[in-house]
Amino acid sequence: VLLPLSAAIALLSAASGLLVLRRQSSPRTELAKALKKGELVAHYQPIIELATGRCIGAEALVRWPRADGSQTPPDMFIPLAEETGLIERVTDQMLAAVIEDLGDLLRDDPHAHVSINLSAVDITTGRILPVLERVLDGSGIQPRQIWLEATERSFIDVDGARATLLELRRRGHRTAIDDFGTGYSGLNYIQNLPIDLLKIDRSFITAVNTEAPTRDVTPYIIAMGHELKLQIIAEGVETENQAEYLRTQGVSFAQGWLYSKALPASAFLVFWTARRR
Ligand code: C2E
Ligand code: MG
Ligand code: MG
Ligand code: MG
Repeated sequence: VLLPLSAAIALLSAASGLLVLRRQSSPRTELAKALKKGELVAHYQPIIELATGRCIGAEALVRWPRADGSQTPPDMFIPLAEETGLIERVTDQMLAAVIEDLGDLLRDDPHAHVSINLSAVDITTGRILPVLERVLDGSGIQPRQIWLEATERSFIDVDGARATLLELRRRGHRTAIDDFGTGYSGLNYIQNLPIDLLKIDRSFITAVNTEAPTRDVTPYIIAMGHELKLQIIAEGVETENQAEYLRTQGVSFAQGWLYSKALPASAFLVFWTARRR
């Protein structure tokens, strides 16, 4: 195909312009930059003991504030971080943020805890073990105050997962299966893994007291947790109705907008002072 020279030049410069643009705004590059500059922050969602209504700790949730004042939600960059190998730095920075933000609280109250979300690679390779050791060593914070959440995807490599979970348990950490009910793990291997807590996915909580078909599944998930001798946390509790139902079913803990959204560290400390057990 013969193009007039001017058209060819226009095409070429448009193409290189696109390349430059892509390079400048590649989400991976931006995330890498944010990590380098320490721009990710941790927010804290209170975890409530259903029997008493008191706050027992918090889940750390990553936030990426952008220059324009907006926030990129974790569901938009955690998968990217996992695909591009940046997730390990996300985990490490979140752990550091938790110690920085809530270190005093955790030292003051040995019953308080913080839950951190791990990625599959943290668990299957065991890379989280030396990281936790380094961060906690000499910090005055007990391993049992750091709870670790992992989704069922982390347990696909059962042998790798078991080795890491056993060592976490030996040290005194508590571990939770996150988003339980949305994955595809069989009961058989969950019952063979050293796990302490089961977090019921929000979809099964939303279904409570509605006509949603998953409504009928929720009691079975709770029964399964009890059968496996796991403590149960419900996520995404938005109504008093749901909380009451969960309480009567023997669910131990709850988080959700009924109590609080995830808060910046300073606001969480205020919440904690008012609602701590
Ligand atoms: P998750 O661990 O299951 O966290 C619960 C999500 O539900 C959070 O979304 C929280 O803000 C939201 N949520 C809590 N209560 C309610 C409620 O009552 N109603 C509704 N509609 N939503 C509620 P968020 O913060 O956007 O995080 C999304 C997911 O991103 C998390 O799900 C977790 O899988 C992942 N994530 C967040 N922080 C980290 C992190 O530091 N590391 C890793 N690996 N993953 C993270
Ligand atoms: Mg979680
Ligand atoms: Mg969850
Ligand atoms: Mg969830």
